[in-house]
Amino acid sequence: MAFTKLGLSAHVLDGVKAMGYVEPTPIQLRAIPLILSGKDIIGSAQTGTGKTAAFALPILTQLGHHQPRPRVLVLEPTRELAAQVETAFRDLARFTDIRIAVVYGGVGYGKQMDALRDGVDVLVATPGRLLDHLGRGTCKLDAVQFVVLDEADRMLDMGFLPDVRRILEKCPRQRHTSLFSATIPPQIETLIEWAMKNPDTIEVGARRTPAETVKHVIYQVADDQKSDLLRALLDQVQYNSVLIFCRTKHRADRIAQLLKRNNHAVAVLHSNRTQREREQALDGFRNGRFEVLVATDIAARGLDIAKVSHVINYDVPQHPEDYVHRIGRTGRAEHSGDAFTLMVAEDGKHVVAIERFISQKIERATLEGFNYQYTALFERNKPGQEDQPPSQVRAVRLSGGGYYCGPVKRRRR
Ligand code: AMP
Repeated sequence: MAFTKLGLSAHVLDGVKAMGYVEPTPIQLRAIPLILSGKDIIGSAQTGTGKTAAFALPILTQLGHHQPRPRVLVLEPTRELAAQVETAFRDLARFTDIRIAVVYGGVGYGKQMDALRDGVDVLVATPGRLLDHLGRGTCKLDAVQFVVLDEADRMLDMGFLPDVRRILEKCPRQRHTSLFSATIPPQIETLIEWAMKNPDTIEVGARRTPAETVKHVIYQVADDQKSDLLRALLDQVQYNSVLIFCRTKHRADRIAQLLKRNNHAVAVLHSNRTQREREQALDGFRNGRFEVLVATDIAARGLDIAKVSHVINYDVPQHPEDYVHRIGRTGRAEHSGDAFTLMVAEDGKHVVAIERFISQKIERATLEGFNYQYTALFERNKPGQEDQPPSQVRAVRLSGGGYYCGPVKRRRR
């Protein structure tokens, strides 16, 4: 099915063509006709599926020509996502006279106020800064016709739902609302009941499966060999661009320093960096100046970084859905990519939860030539033994190098 059959306007189709999109992705095929017909929708497609265009294209089609008051409000959990969605709207709307602005915290008000004063059609915002603008009277939402709540589960995690409600109260009741969320916890269900009208749910693929173009494996390793294994992986693997996820800002900084010392071109992304530093990191990573980006989850959630060849979970994610989101950074829109996870003995519980969540056993791999230290790994990952305490193990030196660590067989007396 071609884009031309979906009922999009000619100028919007020109934007699609200029972006080089040939065929609609599954979420676009399903969401575009529904949004064009005026339905509220809940989309549970994961990132990397083309969901931004799935809501941007039908909304832009319905906007027609520029008018000075915001008619579209898109709420995003992070500044980076907001900036990214603004760019996507701009790209797709480039052959229209529609104006787009983004407001988020961490930067001055001046430019944002100028844009709002000049008049915008589409406003992309993070909740906190938008509330500030509403409080100052620099922005009004009384002409809003389309609301998009993007990454709603992450807005919940970040404590934004009360702000989201306050913002929605300032929008007309007569409007079209779309909500995108990888998971629908009870609080989001309540929000849906309150904010939406008979929504249709679109679930593209199984909500829980990672992108199919990603091959993902786990490397088991002793805790104090993690950084050595990371360096060895980067030495051995052919990559174009690598995203490395760490649990904390401090760890992200430490890993970045380590890799810099090993002559990798590295950028860091976490919430302690200034907005300018974060933009430089992202731009540099996107344009290839940095080959490695080390990030924390919150900072990197949902970011569209094209053609990431590898994702490395330096730390196992604590929430199974974060695993899907993280490895969704690679294998985006049909490019295949690899995702590696470093796992230490204490991670057993989290890995089991991830494998249950995605209904898949993740392949265990060992890096050839890496001198694995003895470690009390990992019998408990055998199917059916997940909840057992770690058994006693012994290490056997393998002829090809490294060790096999297996259970100690008790001798019969
Ligand atoms: P998203 O899921 O919105 O973050 O989009 C992920 C990536 O897919 C972005 O780089 C989009 O530009 C790209 N994309 C979106 N729709 C299509 C399409 N129909 N064909 C090819 N790429 C697309």
